[in-house]
Amino acid sequence: MAARLAPRSSRAWLTAVSRGRGPPLLPRPPWAGLLPAARSLGAAAMSSGPLWRSEGFVGGGWVKAPAVFPVRNPATGAELAQVADCGVAEARAAVRAAYEAGAAWSAVPAKERGVLLRKWHNLMIENKDDLAKLITAENGKPLREAQGEILYSAAFLEWFAEEARRIYGDIIPSSAKDRKSLVLKQPVGVAAIITPWNFPSAMITRKVGAALAAGCTVVVKPAEDTPLSALALAELANQAGIPAGVYNVIPCSRQQAPAVGELLCTDPLVAKISFTGSTATGKILLRQAADTVKRVSMELGGHAPFIVFDSADVDKAVSGALASKYRNSGQTCVCSNRFLVQKGIHDAFVEKFAQAIKKELRVGNGFEEGTTQGPLINEKAVEKVERHIDDAVSQGASVVTGGKRHSYGKNFFEPTLLSNVTTSMLCTQEETFGPLAPVIKFNTEEEALAIANSANVGLAGYFFSRDPAQIWRVAERLEVGMVGVNEGLLSAVECPFGGVKQSGLGREGSKYGIDEYLEIKYVCFGGLQ
Ligand code: ADP
Repeated sequence: MAARLAPRSSRAWLTAVSRGRGPPLLPRPPWAGLLPAARSLGAAAMSSGPLWRSEGFVGGGWVKAPAVFPVRNPATGAELAQVADCGVAEARAAVRAAYEAGAAWSAVPAKERGVLLRKWHNLMIENKDDLAKLITAENGKPLREAQGEILYSAAFLEWFAEEARRIYGDIIPSSAKDRKSLVLKQPVGVAAIITPWNFPSAMITRKVGAALAAGCTVVVKPAEDTPLSALALAELANQAGIPAGVYNVIPCSRQQAPAVGELLCTDPLVAKISFTGSTATGKILLRQAADTVKRVSMELGGHAPFIVFDSADVDKAVSGALASKYRNSGQTCVCSNRFLVQKGIHDAFVEKFAQAIKKELRVGNGFEEGTTQGPLINEKAVEKVERHIDDAVSQGASVVTGGKRHSYGKNFFEPTLLSNVTTSMLCTQEETFGPLAPVIKFNTEEEALAIANSANVGLAGYFFSRDPAQIWRVAERLEVGMVGVNEGLLSAVECPFGGVKQSGLGREGSKYGIDEYLEIKYVCFGGLQ
């Protein structure tokens, strides 16, 4: 039913945009003519005219591209927008605009940069409901989760607004009498920022907040599935008075992404690449950035272990597991991907986890009250979950609950729990990025750590235990960048986010995040006698 909406809404909107009639407000509700249920969901999605943008944002102005690409609601398949498909030419123009704005922006006193970031934050809060609806429309996550993402996203602008004033240098005691040795911290320059679809807003502000606070200017290439949130942020940046050229956005289709990515990674005017996405794409960008030796930050895939020791409080472990696994339908890089449960507590944990999944989780459209599980982002994602389950079951795993596509619609999948899982199964070897919890039974702490640390990635890791000595041992020995002890959710703006091994390079958020956008310059001040 939703597919019928696409031609009418997109054409009406496109016509308005191509005739240059100001902001692309929808001239006619795109849900007109739909069945009542779909209409109410559509109406909920599309109430935010001024934030509803479809063109690129370069040098402080909205720019068209030679082509457009469709953005769809993953819950219904309905086309939400036709967005400018920026290519190499638009990317180059954006880099130039960012470069030209750089000198003036870095000279703005840190306090004033902070004031502008704070204004941007305040505008996000004022528009939080519309921004959240935009996320649910293009990403599919439940509206309540989208609202949480907007607060989290805005909090990065607030945090870095404050951090801008705390970029301290050093004076080093000199070994020579006639010298003073100084350390200055300076912005790296233009930062190219490539972001994923699973947090369409927060993955942008976590990088951009730090970059702008440091005095860098940015070119953002958002994910093709979710460019609308990035463009809405541009509208608010503009309203906040962020100067032209400081925040640029070049949306593009998946087909254009490699060429645009290559331009960003090789253009000598770009000083820094910051990427969040898959390890495979991160490696491509790293190779491309090598020729011009750019600074890089990489926040890549995870494969988080969630260990439940015999000493754990089983009910708390189940709540932690539910939150850590099924948030965003399992589509976050810190979602638990492997459950390792000790022999003595195993059966109780599996039974209570299954009960909680059935009782607490509800699959549906993200705009429906009570939905906890929206759609997966696309069919490819659904196929991967299916492939992991088929492989595990063919090797002897048991489906405790779920296990198949959900009758609600094409991109929906049942929250699934598997037991009797072994380390030879695909789901324990790579990230599923979907609502699948595979449980492996183990005997000893050593064995659990060996399994957990066998991955070539290491982003987040979680464990539940009430034994203080074990807590220290395991927290220290887990090969990950972030550890949740008796906690299933650990992200916070003031804490460092990032991984070890092939999960990436660098840290985001916290007092450390700003360092990714700063150079250290040593000044040897001589001839002082
Ligand atoms: P996913 O497969 O989940 O979309 P990706 O890592 O491929 O994860 O995508 C994350 C981001 O990287 C998106 O913005 C996407 O467009 C971008 N991307 C994908 N491939 C490339 C590439 N070759 N060069 C630059 N960006 C890319």
